[in-house]
Amino acid sequence: MELGELLPKYDILSMRRVLVVQPHPDDAEVGAGDVIAKLHDSGAEIHYLTVTDGSLGVNSPDIPKESIVAIRKMETEASGRYLGVDGFTYLDEKDGALKDVPALAGRIAEVIRSYRPDLVLSPDPYLPYESHMDHIVTAKATSQAVISSSLMEYPRGTSTTPHSVTLMAYYLTAKPNVILDVSTTLVRRFKAMEFHKSQFSDELLALYRVYFTNRATQLAVNEDYTFGAGLKILPPLMMHCFTEADDYIPM
Ligand SMILES: [Zn+2]
Repeated sequence: MELGELLPKYDILSMRRVLVVQPHPDDAEVGAGDVIAKLHDSGAEIHYLTVTDGSLGVNSPDIPKESIVAIRKMETEASGRYLGVDGFTYLDEKDGALKDVPALAGRIAEVIRSYRPDLVLSPDPYLPYESHMDHIVTAKATSQAVISSSLMEYPRGTSTTPHSVTLMAYYLTAKPNVILDVSTTLVRRFKAMEFHKSQFSDELLALYRVYFTNRATQLAVNEDYTFGAGLKILPPLMMHCFTEADDYIPM
């Protein structure tokens, strides 16, 4: 018998409160804009947690270095609101400098314990060849926060109340175990990316549009809909000590 057989059948679209964690402003739209729009259409309340300040994202001599953090917050909120995101929290860690998983996990757990989501999204920490430490550290810290926020005193010294997350979902994953029908929302992922004018040229947006449309078509090839989005979902119970998590197929 596998652990998955003993667990409930999870319906990601029935989740009512969703926390989307992103290492940098724009990762959520690039990695999961269609999924976020779909969750919004299904009635979820959605909150963004942006971990770093995005201060390394200066791509043009026309953008003053001292303005980039504020510009990226405006872009985050414009694109997030377009997708149906209701609230925004920023940890303002320095872009490109994340290294301490346990310390960041404590900060993310505080947000989980105050927002109290059913579902938490983050990039997949085990994406092969992912070389950006901000992504790896954010994803591992979010995972640790998800399994630890139900402890009475986590982080140590906190006065917040424990909270149990129902489900973790990883975007930007190479090993999806659910495919979501995003036929009606894929186009909103592209529109949301357009709000990040400081990051994406028209040429890059056009390339992304072709690539992600192709990828979404491939993911739906065996389905009765046009476009699919892949997520790796795990119940928190499976995220510690269980050997089956890698191959887990939600029943
Ligand atoms: Zn990023």
